Amino acid sequence: MTHMATWKTQLPNSRVQPRFAGHATFCRYPRLEDVAPASHPVDWALYGCPYDGGVSYRSGARFGPRAIREASQYVKGHHLVHDVAVPQILSLADAGDAPISHPYSCEETAQSIAEWAIALPDAGATKLLAVGGDHSIALPNIRATHQRLGVQEPIALIHFDAHLDTLDTLWGERFSHASPFRRAIEERLIDPARMISIGIRGPINTSADLDYARDNGVTIITYEDWRWSDGAQRIAAFLKRLGDDPAHLSFDIDCVDPAFAPGTGTLAPGGFTSPEILHVLRSLAGAHLVGAEVVEVLPDRDVSGVTAFLAAHVCFEILALDAIRAMQR
Ligand code: MN
Ligand code: MN
Repeated sequence: MTHMATWKTQLPNSRVQPRFAGHATFCRYPRLEDVAPASHPVDWALYGCPYDGGVSYRSGARFGPRAIREASQYVKGHHLVHDVAVPQILSLADAGDAPISHPYSCEETAQSIAEWAIALPDAGATKLLAVGGDHSIALPNIRATHQRLGVQEPIALIHFDAHLDTLDTLWGERFSHASPFRRAIEERLIDPARMISIGIRGPINTSADLDYARDNGVTIITYEDWRWSDGAQRIAAFLKRLGDDPAHLSFDIDCVDPAFAPGTGTLAPGGFTSPEILHVLRSLAGAHLVGAEVVEVLPDRDVSGVTAFLAAHVCFEILALDAIRAMQR
C-alpha cells in the first residue's frame, strides 16, 4: 500500500462506545460541522434528503435517511473483497439533512437541496453522497455535484434501477421521481451517450417509455441481460469506454429484487439478489466517481430492516470504490 492518508476518519471505538450507543450518524462517521473546517477537506460528505413528494405510487421514502442512519451503525470499515480500510483511506463525514422547506413542491425542493449542497464546504474537494428520499432528489444532487466539480461538459452516469426515470412529465409534474435523468440530460449535466441504466425490467406501461433513452443513446442493461445474456460484458465495455472520465452513480434500491429489498415504493419482481448487486458494484472498481445517491428506501414497508441495512452497505460499497481508486493513485 503506497497511499499515505493525510486524513483519517475518526470513528468511535466500538469496544468503548458500542455500535448500539451514541448519536446515529451515517456509518458512525463524524458530523461535518465537527470536523470542518479542518486542515484537510473531507473526501465525501454524506447527507440525507428526507423527501418523497415526487413518488408515483407508494410514499414513505422521506423516512429513508433516518432508517439508513440507524441501520448503518453496523457498517464496519474494512472491505473484505477489496482489502481496503475505507475510513483510513478516505475522510468521511455526515453533513446532516438538506432543508426540505417546500414539501409540496418538487421543483422548489430540488432547488433548495441543490443550493444547500452547493454551499457545503470544500467544493472541488469534497464529494457528495445523498441518501433519499425518492429518486427526484437525484436531480439536485447531480446539479450540486456538477457545479462543485466546476466542469462545463456533461458527465457520465452509472444508474441502477428497475426503471429508466426518463419520463418527460407525470401528471404534469416535471420534477417527480420518474424524470430526474430527463431533466439532468436537458440541463446538460449528464451525457446520455455515457449513461448506463442497469437492472431495468418490466412490465412497463408502453414501449414508448423506452424511446427517449434509446433515441439518446443510453446503454440499457435489463436484469434479464445481466443474468442470462451479455449484460456483464456490456457493463465492462461501458466502463472501458468511460476510462477515467468523471462519473456520477445513482442507486435506486428497487434494482434489487423485492424478496431482498421489500422496503421500497415501486416494486418490480425479478431483480438482483443482494449478493449479486454487491458483486456488480464491486465490478465498478476503477471508475472515477465524483458523486452518488442511494434512494427509494421506505422503512414502513421494510421487513426486519433488511432494505435499509442493504442500502447502508451500498453506501459503503460506493465509498470503497473511491477508496481503492485513492490507494491506486
Ligand atoms: Mn428510480
Ligand atoms: Mn425505480
